[in-house]
Amino acid sequence: MKHHMQVDMSMSLRQTLRHAYLKALSTSGALKMAKQKIGTSGATLVLTLHRVIPDDAIESCRSPRGMVLRESAFRSLLDYLSEHATCVKPEDNYHQEESNMRPRVLITFDDGWLDNFTIAAPLLAQFGISACFFAVTGYAGHSQPFWPERALGLTRVLHDSTSPISIQDVFAHLVDKEGIPLPPGALQEEVLLNWLKQFRPETICAAIQNAERHLASSMTILQPDILERLMTWEEMRALTRAGHSVGSHTSTHALLTHLTSDEVSSELTMSSTKLQRNMMPEHAEQYWIAYPNGFTDKRVRELTARCGYHYGFTTMPGLWHKESEPLAIPRVNVWDGSVLSPEGNFDESYLEYALFFRPLLADTL
Ligand SMILES: [Zn+2]
Repeated sequence: MKHHMQVDMSMSLRQTLRHAYLKALSTSGALKMAKQKIGTSGATLVLTLHRVIPDDAIESCRSPRGMVLRESAFRSLLDYLSEHATCVKPEDNYHQEESNMRPRVLITFDDGWLDNFTIAAPLLAQFGISACFFAVTGYAGHSQPFWPERALGLTRVLHDSTSPISIQDVFAHLVDKEGIPLPPGALQEEVLLNWLKQFRPETICAAIQNAERHLASSMTILQPDILERLMTWEEMRALTRAGHSVGSHTSTHALLTHLTSDEVSSELTMSSTKLQRNMMPEHAEQYWIAYPNGFTDKRVRELTARCGYHYGFTTMPGLWHKESEPLAIPRVNVWDGSVLSPEGNFDESYLEYALFFRPLLADTL
């Protein structure tokens, strides 16, 4: 109990300091200046979103918080962008020399979640904004496609003091077999996910399934919500008919830097072939790829080029200049924390900091 209180207090202190810092940046004009600087640079700011979830369903959403943007915040973001930025279409010419001072912004979505189609697309239509959706082409239409949601759903149950098993029990076999101990604080979302990322998905899923089976007899397991599935090809075709593009996020969401070169090539080729086959060719950006988890390196990029891809999107913050390496385009992750104050209110200082100030600091060109 005491431990929890300490955690809460230090969190709120951190939030208070951060809030004061952002307000100071805003008052001094530094945030507006960053926005202007990006506007005049002619570079494109590429945003990464994953899931857009109705506000009243946030609690039941099992996805990591860093990939969830609530619907009201997404609407506010689009509202802000339509007033302060120029939202470019994926097929537009990216790097205008002359500029109207407004930052050029390209919105992208990773994974291809159903909520992109049911929640995000209608809002994009309202604002007349087009986006690029990077699909995991081998899992189109699949429910509960990925292990992080299952792992986090499980940890919520394990937090309950009446749970008959602990997080150590769940992954004991994995720890024994691989000899990699669980880090301290493994019940925390980020700590657990980072630790698990080093194992093969099949191994992780087997451990989770075991625990779920064990718990099912004594406790209620958190069920996935209906939006926890990926779009079908028909839904993705409907997006392209509405003016959006669909690109690749590999075939199975494989972390490319962890694979052999043959495996990388097969992920990439299978994915572009499927996009070609299932989408109208003029609407498919089959040679655009967002690397899963942003995992890429020189070897992966060479293979990506050899497989015919033109543009590769990372998760490194920064700006897309015409001098940028086309297969290592920086992107800025957008989630609730990027645009909402700790009280949950949409706040322009938070947005301008996350979208303009930080990427500009990170910009290497
Ligand atoms: Zn992804």
